[in-house]
Amino acid sequence: MKVRRLARSGFCYGVRRATGLAIRLRQRHARVWTLGPLMHNPQEVARLASQGILPCGRVEECGPGPLLVRTHGVAREEEEAARRLGLELVDGTCPHVLGARRDLALFGREGRTVILAGDAAHPEVSAQVSHAEGPVHVVGSRAGLPALPPATRVGVVAQTTLAPAEFEALVAEIRARHADTRVSAALCDDARVRQAEAARLAAEVDAVVVVGGRNSANTSRLAEICRRVQPRCFHVEVAEELRAADFAGVAVVGLAAGASTPDWLIEQVAGWLARLPGQASDSKEKSFDTGGQSQ
Ligand code: SF4
Repeated sequence: MKVRRLARSGFCYGVRRATGLAIRLRQRHARVWTLGPLMHNPQEVARLASQGILPCGRVEECGPGPLLVRTHGVAREEEEAARRLGLELVDGTCPHVLGARRDLALFGREGRTVILAGDAAHPEVSAQVSHAEGPVHVVGSRAGLPALPPATRVGVVAQTTLAPAEFEALVAEIRARHADTRVSAALCDDARVRQAEAARLAAEVDAVVVVGGRNSANTSRLAEICRRVQPRCFHVEVAEELRAADFAGVAVVGLAAGASTPDWLIEQVAGWLARLPGQASDSKEKSFDTGGQSQ
């Protein structure tokens, strides 16, 4: 069967960088610890654990060896706890997150009231708030904007994965209320680009397979978007979950993966699909450019 892969598949820049850091640290230490799993992918987390890169729930639970901060960053209090315990703290925070954090602190130092647009329950957001220098209002929507005097000087920062359109709408509302508003440009477009490309791919193929952890919000969202366009969409973590019967009549299958899915799992699924015999299809001519990675 012909497999058309999404050009942007697997680890995003931040996860690839943090995983590389963990592997390099492991070459120098018997054990490396991460505060929580390094990515939302159970198979990769288990593989790394088998190699001595181990998640721990709290700083106090880490054994001997360096502690790697995940891409979302870590709360200031946990950083301080790690230092008190004498742990070597290695920063794997995604540079996009650090960019937003720098702006958040800068706006605070300028005496601005900071509005952080995002999900208050997300670990990135709670970590960012802990690093702020001044009051921060976390808002999930326009309805949640605080009622501040019009003359308030405001600084606006976003959770890095917030949809740009959503952020722009919020910023427009804030600017309308407060003339002196500064806005951080630190947004990550990985999810937006991946989702747009996946929707295009799904429209061009007879079925779609999305690979990634069921605990991965971005992978689940990717599958949801593909399914809206192509109802024959299968979200799997591993190739063993696929069934040949589900691909009856499929000539071309699209293959996508979330930002926390390692290459080796994508390759396993791609190999499984490529080994299925191609079938006659009544789909229209496929014209989507997936980066030339067809099999
Ligand atoms: S999704 Fe974007 S902000 Fe988040 S870790 Fe990946 S590259 Fe960084």
